[in-house]
Amino acid sequence: MRRERISIFDTTLRDGEQSPGCSMQPEEKLRMALQLAALKVDVIEAGFPVASEEDFAAVSLVSRKVRGPVIAALCRTLKGDIDRAWEALRDGPRPRIHTFISTSDLHMSHKLQKTRAEVLAMTREGVRRAAGLCGDVEFSAEDASRSDPAFLADIVAVALEEGAGTINLPDTVGYTVPGEFRDFLLDLRSRVPALDRAVLSVHCHDDLGLAVANSLAGIEAGARQVECTINGIGERAGNASLEEIVMALRVRGERLPFETGIVTEELFRSSQILSNITGVQVQPNKAIVGRNAFAHESGIHQHGMLSNPMTYEIMTPATVGVKTSSLILGKHSGRHALKQRYEELGYPLEQETLDRAYKLFAGLADQKREIYDEDLVALLHDGITECPQTCRLVAVQASAGTHSIATALVTLECEHGPATETASGDGPVNAVCEAINRITGMQGELRDFRLHSVTGGADAQGEVHVRVRFPEGVFTGRAASTDIVHGSAQAYLDAVNKVFLARTRREAVATA
Ligand SMILES: [Zn+2]
Repeated sequence: MRRERISIFDTTLRDGEQSPGCSMQPEEKLRMALQLAALKVDVIEAGFPVASEEDFAAVSLVSRKVRGPVIAALCRTLKGDIDRAWEALRDGPRPRIHTFISTSDLHMSHKLQKTRAEVLAMTREGVRRAAGLCGDVEFSAEDASRSDPAFLADIVAVALEEGAGTINLPDTVGYTVPGEFRDFLLDLRSRVPALDRAVLSVHCHDDLGLAVANSLAGIEAGARQVECTINGIGERAGNASLEEIVMALRVRGERLPFETGIVTEELFRSSQILSNITGVQVQPNKAIVGRNAFAHESGIHQHGMLSNPMTYEIMTPATVGVKTSSLILGKHSGRHALKQRYEELGYPLEQETLDRAYKLFAGLADQKREIYDEDLVALLHDGITECPQTCRLVAVQASAGTHSIATALVTLECEHGPATETASGDGPVNAVCEAINRITGMQGELRDFRLHSVTGGADAQGEVHVRVRFPEGVFTGRAASTDIVHGSAQAYLDAVNKVFLARTRREAVATA
């Protein structure tokens, strides 16, 4: 059977990043983008360049450094937006300008305060300008699923006339249901025959839990590009989940005769890397990538699985890159074993990174008898963080209890040598953060603190994720440690070092 190719447009770094707690720094976006390239997505939407200096820097970094996928940047149909998007994209080999405007009466009158005629004119001018700069232009009609079909048809016809090669019709507020969405797309295709010469795209939100179902209905109605995110992160209830769409097409190929270019064995790692960067874990029962997605607890199920895995498993964990967690290394494992294990996990390390990772590994092996794959991945993300360590943690000590005020003593090594401060706070973590503020002169305020264990067991490493508000903006930090106070100090310091980096970047922009 001939299978039609579906293009996977990943918007984890743009729509996904807009979800609470998921903001990423440019270097973090680059790390995620490199993984998306390994996953072989067709398009990476890297950001919304006009929104902020950070977003501009991220799009520019990703388009210069990532090879393989098309790199897209979002912009409104305004001249300034489009030019800024192009400026961020132009140095990459495969740029795409993605321009959008709202087309529902509700959005046009209450958000844009524009008439239909004005929106039609803005579509024409915006797409024309984008197509004059870039050979690959995508146009989105925001809130398409709630737009008047006749007016939407006019808009789409104009965008096509002006050179848009991809037309995206989002269900922006997650309102439609599969049968309705299919009818809506088929109706539009019959109104605009020229649409069949372009790529039709869908972009669904999950407010009713239907984003994936609606996306599949879109494919059945002729869409050949789907916009989605890793772990389904995104505004409000999120976007359609990439891993669910891809595996539905793969597992149900006889019913859905389509294929993607995705390397499904990279799905689980992509999910883990995203959680690791943002600190937002997926729920255990999440399809495909959740911790329990392949767990079989009940006796009857286990018995069935042993006699034939097909009894309760429609795909194997290996297809999506889930490896059964195995005890692998310990105190006596050497550098070579560590290098080999990292290679097996998909992280070939250069000598310098290996040396750093080995030092962290040896330190961990002193505190923890058994070291699992998850520990190694957590270590690696500590060891290879691209953010320069302007300040380094030398020592931390904190005390707390029911009848005493929490206090902390912190020593950091910064540009001007070592410095020590003490501070008190509501709890030991707050006291540690306050001591770091005093040494670095930062005015950070801890907004969110999350702790989860990397593996099971009493001596497990805790992974700490923090969100900190600074006058410069909100920054995230992470660290893994077997000691919570130490991990908290490292995570807070990680956020502080990102602020130093952001300041350097802003100075560079100002003097450029
Ligand atoms: Zn969206």
